[in-house]
Amino acid sequence: MGNIQVLDLQTAQSIAAGEVVERPASVIKELCENSLDAGADRLSLYIEQGGKKSIRVTDNGSGMSAEDAIMAFEEHATSKIRQITDLDELITLGFRGEALPTIAAVAKVTLQTRRPEDAVGTRVVIEGGKLIERGEVHCNAGTTLEVRDLFYNTPARFKFLKKDQTEAQRITEVVQEIALARPDVSLFLEYEGKEVLHTPGDNQLLSAIYAVFGQQLAKAMVPLLPRQDSMVHATGYLCLPEEARKSRNWQMFYVNGRPIKSPLLTRALEDGYKSTMMTGRFPAAVLQLWLPMNLVDVNVHPRKLEVRFWNESEVYRAVYEQVQNSLFTALRPPELSSPDPEQTALTADDNPSSSTVSAEPSLSAKSSPEKTPSPFTQAPDKSYLRFDLDGYAARMAEPARNYKTADEFPAAEKASETAPVQLSFTSEEAPAADDREATLQSLRRARFAGELFRTYLLFEDGDRILLIDQHAAHEKVLFEEAVQDYQKNQRIRSQMLLEPVRMEISPSDEFFIEEHRDFLEACGFQVDFFGPAVVLVRAVPIGREVLDPAKALRYLLDDAAANGIEQVKGETDLIYHMLATSSCKSAVKAHDRLQALEVEALRERLLELDNPFHCPHGRPVIVSIRRYDLEKMFKRIV
Ligand code: ADP
Ligand code: MG
Repeated sequence: MGNIQVLDLQTAQSIAAGEVVERPASVIKELCENSLDAGADRLSLYIEQGGKKSIRVTDNGSGMSAEDAIMAFEEHATSKIRQITDLDELITLGFRGEALPTIAAVAKVTLQTRRPEDAVGTRVVIEGGKLIERGEVHCNAGTTLEVRDLFYNTPARFKFLKKDQTEAQRITEVVQEIALARPDVSLFLEYEGKEVLHTPGDNQLLSAIYAVFGQQLAKAMVPLLPRQDSMVHATGYLCLPEEARKSRNWQMFYVNGRPIKSPLLTRALEDGYKSTMMTGRFPAAVLQLWLPMNLVDVNVHPRKLEVRFWNESEVYRAVYEQVQNSLFTALRPPELSSPDPEQTALTADDNPSSSTVSAEPSLSAKSSPEKTPSPFTQAPDKSYLRFDLDGYAARMAEPARNYKTADEFPAAEKASETAPVQLSFTSEEAPAADDREATLQSLRRARFAGELFRTYLLFEDGDRILLIDQHAAHEKVLFEEAVQDYQKNQRIRSQMLLEPVRMEISPSDEFFIEEHRDFLEACGFQVDFFGPAVVLVRAVPIGREVLDPAKALRYLLDDAAANGIEQVKGETDLIYHMLATSSCKSAVKAHDRLQALEVEALRERLLELDNPFHCPHGRPVIVSIRRYDLEKMFKRIV
């Protein structure tokens, strides 16, 4: 007998299974797609142990006849196409007729199904590809498919699966993707007896966004304005720049209703935000691209979610322009006609380069469409268009944080950007080493002479004046104290909040928190689950006097999502990063008026630092001006 043999059917099927079904999340995707293809508008999913133990999907779709219930498990059996040319007009999601047989080959599957017109339903049990049971059953109209013990007969594949939490997270992502693609369908996801996601199915994309991303982000979402006279156009929602995230996890793209990954669309979206977005921030968006089927090739690979556009530049332009116009419309502050001098001043002196943004968004200024009501929500809630000018300006003024460790914080290179218009004297933004000591001596002795613009503290000593940026100074103090404390204890000390703070989280946050609780605690957070999609923040890193606990945790979650927890866990980058961020957030701001005692306390604490001259973001804290330079200005000396 030769070496080459035809594999028995079951072996062949289990090998093929790897193609379609590589993990629980892909099983769920296939099952949900089948339910949607069957016209269901209500799907319930119950998952246990990362989907390895059990996956159950129940729908209210068309159901199957007794005959079809068996046929469905035959290879290449499909009700969706009859011949190859049907592919051109394909509107259903599946068509290969391989999902059910391949799943049934590597798991224990129970199908219960009934068509509305039938009196009784059909129950079929298949294990490892073998028909075990077949009979009648009384059940609701629709279909329930239960998949237990995935890969029980293919140990090699089973070993390939990740931890339950990780698989659960992927499942959540898949379900979120579907939820956002189909706001007309009510999706319910329960994991180990706990509700993870529930969308209303009211055909409002914003409702689905609310369920998936949470209230805070949903409120900061603006609709994409329509694009006229184009074969290619996008619909969906974008977040305001102020709610931008630190990772791309909050970007969902669809082409003709299918979730996809596309560098082209990512670029078009992000370019549309340019000049409103800090580096290192990414817009959250749910973006649906619509174009004629023959202009796109979706099935480059059935599993890879990749697409090929026939006219890439047209697609790019459509999305880019729509994003720009929609943001422009949303960002145009309503009070533009009577600018508040207070706010204008804040923007201007916090960061001169950003002042244009708040006064007149530099987004496609050429077209300035009237604020049209959203075509995608009836009676749009105006609060979605709310634009917090103050917060926005402050955020825009923050420099990018892409440094690595405390030592690598950019030195004075930012100084020139934020320094006031150069006068005829030379300010000493970064004193030379020999002069540092002199500056500190001066600061120790100096008389507090008052504040300027509610931003700078003015000190006078002998033949020099010192200007201190109160925000930068306080930030530096908080940062250094936090770092010292961290180095001593190898964890960020925690401080209980008097009142726990409620915070909304996404399902993937939820898994993250569950899995990395130790890490969060090392970072000083204590978090408890509180009903679906909500946590209570009970403790925050110490020293964050005015810190918004929810925001700080959001930063940490997004950071870890962006940088990968495994990578950052052992290192201190994230810790420093977070300390710097939270120090900045909690520091007094420009325009907070400090009491004399607070000024003194700030001076004391500054003087205790090794390097009080630059804030963690590299901006100068202390600027020293010599009397000599002043006198030259006044021509007292020539
Ligand atoms: P495909 O979806 O590619 O046709 P599948 O193996 O996923 O192949 O499904 C085989 C067939 O089983 C489908 O064509 C459909 O007729 C039927 N089927 C599967 N799931 C359902 C469901 N939830 N409701 C009704 N029919 C279903
Ligand atoms: Mg299918």
